[in-house]
Amino acid sequence: MFSESLKDFSKRNLLRTIKDKTSPQGREIIINGKELINFSSNDYLGLASNEEIKDSVKIAINKYGFGAGASRLLSGGCILHNTLEKNIASFKDGESGLLFNSGYAVNVGAIPALTSSDDAIFSDELNHASIIDGCRLSKAKKFVYKHNDIDELASFLKSVEAKTKIVITESVFSMDGDIIDLNDINMLCNQYKALLYIDDAHATGVIGGGKGSLKHFQLSANEHIIQMGTFSKALGSVGGFIVATKTIIDYLINTSRSLIYSTALSVADVAASIASLDYIERHPELIEKLKKNVNKCRELLIKEGFSIERGISPIIPVKFKSVDDTIKVSDHLFRNGIYAPSIRPPTVKIPRIRITITASHTKDDIELLVSNLKEAVLLKVSGSYPI
Ligand SMILES: *Cc1c(COP(=O)(O)O)cnc(C)c1O
Repeated sequence: MFSESLKDFSKRNLLRTIKDKTSPQGREIIINGKELINFSSNDYLGLASNEEIKDSVKIAINKYGFGAGASRLLSGGCILHNTLEKNIASFKDGESGLLFNSGYAVNVGAIPALTSSDDAIFSDELNHASIIDGCRLSKAKKFVYKHNDIDELASFLKSVEAKTKIVITESVFSMDGDIIDLNDINMLCNQYKALLYIDDAHATGVIGGGKGSLKHFQLSANEHIIQMGTFSKALGSVGGFIVATKTIIDYLINTSRSLIYSTALSVADVAASIASLDYIERHPELIEKLKKNVNKCRELLIKEGFSIERGISPIIPVKFKSVDDTIKVSDHLFRNGIYAPSIRPPTVKIPRIRITITASHTKDDIELLVSNLKEAVLLKVSGSYPI
């Protein structure tokens, strides 16, 4: 049965395989012995192999070892875990912070912990799989609204009766790179006394001078806003976090299963995140460089006739009509030294090459990417033009 399914995936060009690097994460990576310019990492600021951060990790490991040895509720945490929680809370302008092992663990742990059968969750249809899984684990009633459709959200909030209402949305959407209008959603939440749970995975380190979506929209943290995020994207490390009121954090410590029943993050991960947060506060020019690169790539693609939105997020989807076309184009890019694999269903409905720009890319890298994308289309490597 499993092998039948695998054959079927393969026939439909939907078979996923894992390609591992023989190099560090960065602007240039090596896969199967081939050097490639990397347009497929979420390491937006190029910090995953940063020398200064590596040195901080080495010092921390020498002092505290590497294995956590237990859950945070037993003896798994050390003073570094506590420091990172304080630092991330202050970075996000909130009261208290809590670490989880990943962003995924935050969403599958916090969402069911915060909601019960008397409550209602309102979730954007394009929310990340970890949010969907968190909602599935929750006993609350669920209402999925059309992507960023404020009117539909408003009508749900108005008509649904529930003890607690909670709106859950990404700020920068992970596969389309668009940014929600947080002001409108926040206003609605205030009007209907709903909690607002914001997934800032791709906003942290990127928008709002790196501080994320609240800062970008000039909103302040308050007792109705729950911010989640991850150290695994722009911060180049690993680990998820929640920033909220102390009451909510204490409640999660007592109820969130992915926190309670899992060994704490390793010292290396925590030390890297502490150093990385500190690094971006001292190097605002990195975020400026990222912005410049994003703008350059979007403008060039638009100039070449691709239907790309102007925007500030480093996630740029080039969509195709069919999975076959997407694969042909990403193969063409691979042959020409560019790594930008295709993203296919069921991850997304419309197949695409999801370009991610980082601060480490050069002008030449971006020009090479765009000229190769154009070439792929002109050579009719794909059967259809990008949509
Ligand atoms: C990547 C991602 C997560 C999960 O974060 P990890 O730390 O990688 O587990 C959660 N939400 C969104 C929107 C993401 O893109």
